[in-house]
Amino acid sequence: MPKIVTLPGDGIGPEVTAAAVEVLREVAPDLTIEEHLIGGAAIEQTGEPFPAATRGAVREADAVLLGTVGGPQDSPWNRLPRPQRPESGLLALRRLMGCYANLRPVRVLPGLEHLSPLRPELARGVDILIVRELLGGIYFDGDRRLDGDSAHNTMRYTRAEVERVARVAFWAAAQRRGRVTSVDKANVLEVSELWRSAVQDVHDRKYRDLHLNHEYVDSVAMLLVSNPGRYDVVLTENLFGDILSDLAAVIPGSLGLMPSASLGDGAGLFEPIHGSAPDIAGQGVANPAAAILSAAMLLRHGLNRPALANQIDGAVAQALRAGPTADLGGRAGTQAFTDRVLEGLQVTS
Ligand code: ATP
Ligand code: MG
Repeated sequence: MPKIVTLPGDGIGPEVTAAAVEVLREVAPDLTIEEHLIGGAAIEQTGEPFPAATRGAVREADAVLLGTVGGPQDSPWNRLPRPQRPESGLLALRRLMGCYANLRPVRVLPGLEHLSPLRPELARGVDILIVRELLGGIYFDGDRRLDGDSAHNTMRYTRAEVERVARVAFWAAAQRRGRVTSVDKANVLEVSELWRSAVQDVHDRKYRDLHLNHEYVDSVAMLLVSNPGRYDVVLTENLFGDILSDLAAVIPGSLGLMPSASLGDGAGLFEPIHGSAPDIAGQGVANPAAAILSAAMLLRHGLNRPALANQIDGAVAQALRAGPTADLGGRAGTQAFTDRVLEGLQVTS
């Protein structure tokens, strides 16, 4: 029996995680689901943002489903010393799990083209998976300094770091349309030359049947919004991926629709990309689609149960067409929307 740890956290986290858990229980009743504290909720009950009990449970888990962490700007949590704040709990969780590949699907579901800021003919059928390297590159390198009027950071990768994230991208592409676009700036950066050669090697050694091409990051930024239909899997290093994935996140039309997965060699971490949305927390109006779709990613990538993931994806799409939540201009509340997803699952199962 796979063990799932849920960490609802703060703000709308508990509302949307509860919805995702209802859906998981419906499609996979064999899962053991155990809830633990993180973030501000953990501070309130234990005085720490990532308590030992949570740490222990995460170590034993087969997959972790996270809600959202953090409070409003003026929250008293933000007056605590930095290591005691909610966000430190999140960083500690990510460090413990060691996930080096961040996966973000960017999909415009059939019938929901009108939500996209892109023209409908551009938005129609968009189905991209961004695979971003998460533990290396300029954000993590130790060679960093601010020295008066001069400063530097360093983008560094080892071949092994590039290869392991490239394997995730090819593995995902094999379950999709079989095309990987690797993003770099190999015309000006040596680190990109290494990136390009390592990705090409992984392809040539193990994934010759898939299609690989290399594109420059500036060109990808333009094409993601002017011709998003040309992409299947987009593989990128950490800094480029940070920017490109937020750019692409605008395409579907609401943060409330965007799930994510972070994968490494152990258990994966699955979470909506939106924040704690304190402005709507506790009102029962948050869109749970991102959390429910994160649960689908948990089944697909964390537990290797793609058929169940597809069922959930289908039920969410149907529920969105039938009656969207307020962020999408509709009137369905969190529970009404979740009930509609559950009904859809009963029809398809
Ligand atoms: P954080 O600092 O926690 O990341 P943020 O400022 O990045 O927060 P979010 O909390 O993601 O932002 O919210 C941005 C806006 O989107 C808010 O107005 C919020 O209400 C809305 N929003 C975010 N997630 C959802 C959701 N699931 N359903 C409805 N609205 C949402
Ligand atoms: Mg945010």
